[in-house]
Amino acid sequence: MRGHDRTAGRLDWSPMTRTPPVRTCVGCRKRSAKSDLLRVVGDDAAAPQGLVVVDEQSRKPGRGAYLHLSLDCLDQAERRRALQRALRLVGTPDTAALRAWIAAQGRS
Ligand SMILES: [Zn+2]
Repeated sequence: MRGHDRTAGRLDWSPMTRTPPVRTCVGCRKRSAKSDLLRVVGDDAAAPQGLVVVDEQSRKPGRGAYLHLSLDCLDQAERRRALQRALRLVGTPDTAALRAWIAAQGRS
């Protein structure tokens, strides 16, 4: 079974050039290989204001956002409410779990 990411809007790969898929970080707005970015999705069933959860397998349904594995990028995203916008959440999402997850990766 293959998931269809309709938010992408176009094919991610080309058999001719083998260009790796690129996504924009919602924090620093820089483009990076998708494999260097963390996919997060909003879960507004878990918390009324929306909970941001890490999608390690890139398989969760719904609207995703991409973020570098960096607390700096998370800070920037939060300051600009970029996650809230990208994930279409109504309130300020709870990013505590995401923050802890990034911190646990040992990079900042
Ligand atoms: Zn970034």
